[in-house]
Amino acid sequence: MDNEIAPNEEPPSSRDSSDKPPGWSDWIWQLANRIKSVNELKERTGIAISAKTTEKFPLSITPYYFSLIRKFDYSDPIFKMCVPHEEELTEIMQDDPLCEDQMTPVSCLVHRYNDRALVFSTSVCSVYCRYCTRKRSVGVKDHVINDTELNGITDYLSNNPQISDVIVSGGDPFMLGTDKLVHIIEKIRSVKSVDIIRIGTKMPVVLPHRITNELVDELKLYHPIFVNTHFNHPNEFTKESKAACERLVNNGFVVGNQSVLLRGVNDDKHIQEELCRGLVKMRVRPYYLFQCDLVQGVEHFRTRVSKGIEIMEHLRGRLSGLAIPQFVVDSPGGKGKIPVMPTYLISQTPEKVVLRNYRGELVDYPEPAAY
Ligand SMILES: *Cc1c(COP(=O)(O)O)cnc(C)c1O
Ligand code: SF4
Repeated sequence: MDNEIAPNEEPPSSRDSSDKPPGWSDWIWQLANRIKSVNELKERTGIAISAKTTEKFPLSITPYYFSLIRKFDYSDPIFKMCVPHEEELTEIMQDDPLCEDQMTPVSCLVHRYNDRALVFSTSVCSVYCRYCTRKRSVGVKDHVINDTELNGITDYLSNNPQISDVIVSGGDPFMLGTDKLVHIIEKIRSVKSVDIIRIGTKMPVVLPHRITNELVDELKLYHPIFVNTHFNHPNEFTKESKAACERLVNNGFVVGNQSVLLRGVNDDKHIQEELCRGLVKMRVRPYYLFQCDLVQGVEHFRTRVSKGIEIMEHLRGRLSGLAIPQFVVDSPGGKGKIPVMPTYLISQTPEKVVLRNYRGELVDYPEPAAY
């Protein structure tokens, strides 16, 4: 990776907060001042991108996230994650590889696993990640869940009491106004069989100012709520993102991280190690490391599955289990997430198993005589 700043120097956004424009810390100001056109992008970076790409997959970058770019070039991980590239127009993949659209029994709800359901609360985000799994709809449509849809969802949940875990996803649910979001959470919480609610949001990473005291004070009334966020690279660690995560944790939210393995961004075991170490320092638990999905327009981000296995092997030897995510492939055809690991079980008989430790040494492990 091409870092112009030494790793232990303060990240840029905390370094020059004094010369930020007034309004910088206000999330509404950040949203109003997003870079949304190729012309603006050209003015700010000198890089010309064809409008054909952004007509198909829209562009949006918050001033905060833009300030984390250290070099206006695709070798910069933040730049690569948020600045469009013409390769997005390459036609080789499917629009909906996870078949989410076919597993939708009622509008805005995906029911793939017996005990869990996923709710699409909105189709917009503050920053459009170029590798987004839901590129087919996120940012392209402009949809916010309405009361009819919400009632359909609560009816479905009530009629399917085996669903105990509801994931509020999107787009980014924290794009909604606090009142609207609280209304959604309150409705889901009113279903007796729902034990836990999860919210998937990238705001701590791309617009940490959204995690206001008001937001956490209102949401914490509906605990247990888990928040899964989405850090992909250590350059995303700033004073602001740390404060956002800590505000959530301090208010009883269990915070996890789902990252995506991305070519030229974080397909490097040392970067992954730094990412995981940084997360646990903020009390954010690495949850999943996703293999990049087979989505239309993201082929240039994909790695081989073996890269993920190599990273897991590296992490297991160096980090506490608390800092190690699970590497998963979300399988095409909606067949679910499949964990993929280095091979630690070498052979198995009724008498003994042979295991391999993180240093590659073989270990004989006897089984109980009578079981
Ligand atoms: C990922 C996913 C879930 C949650 O899976 P966990 O492994 O429990 O995090 C639930 N529903 C759908 C449709 C999903 O894609
Ligand atoms: S925040 Fe999530 S849903 Fe939104 S563009 Fe990024 S990956 Fe897609």
